[in-house]
Amino acid sequence: MEDCIFCKISNGDLGTEFIYEDETAVVFKDINPKADIHLLVVPKEHVQDLNECSAELIGKLMSIVKKVTVQENIKSFRTVINTGKDAGQEVFHLHIHILSGNIKF
Ligand code: 5GP
Ligand code: ZN
Repeated sequence: MEDCIFCKISNGDLGTEFIYEDETAVVFKDINPKADIHLLVVPKEHVQDLNECSAELIGKLMSIVKKVTVQENIKSFRTVINTGKDAGQEVFHLHIHILSGNIKF
């Protein structure tokens, strides 16, 4: 989607370093980390939020959370999905936060 920062990042348009990538999603560091480790799992498909997300896609994204935490040896972590402005969502392209260590969220 035009003018969507996470579409641009997940397309590779901004040269962002990916910690993980497959056909479904990319994972990269949050630009404004709210913990020692703060990663974002972002689907390549533009989906606005969890309300618009299929069960199949959220299942794939959660399994990517598991893969990445194993890959990065992150044993204790919090996952967050903000859905809607009132809940604090700022980027309206679905993403799962992975936070670990000194979480300020
Ligand atoms: P939300 O509040 O929508 O759940 O979270 C959006 C997150 O995206 C925020 O934690 C914010 O710091 C992060 N973010 C916003 N723009 C960018 C960007 O251009 N690059 C990266 N790496 N993270 C971003
Ligand atoms: Zn998008």
